[in-house]
Amino acid sequence: MDQQDPQPEQDEPECQQALDTLYHFLDGELTDDRRRLIQHHLDECSSCLEAYDFEAELKVVISRRCRDVVPDSLRTRVAQALADASGAV
Ligand SMILES: [Zn+2]
Repeated sequence: MDQQDPQPEQDEPECQQALDTLYHFLDGELTDDRRRLIQHHLDECSSCLEAYDFEAELKVVISRRCRDVVPDSLRTRVAQALADASGAV
């Protein structure tokens, strides 16, 4: 009644695993077997497929951007900002 979960979390171990593996999948670090498993899961699980699509698109965008110009100064500033943010209290 007072349950409020508009977007229930994916607590299925299979999904957790799949998403976990997803990153390796996108990095091309998986064996053919693992790849097939993931692919199979994505076929049946729309929420993981969505996550996959998003990550995959992101990867493409990022890799494209990176091939373009990323000035060292910007890279340094970003790294510095990240360090600052994580170190800030
Ligand atoms: Zn799933």
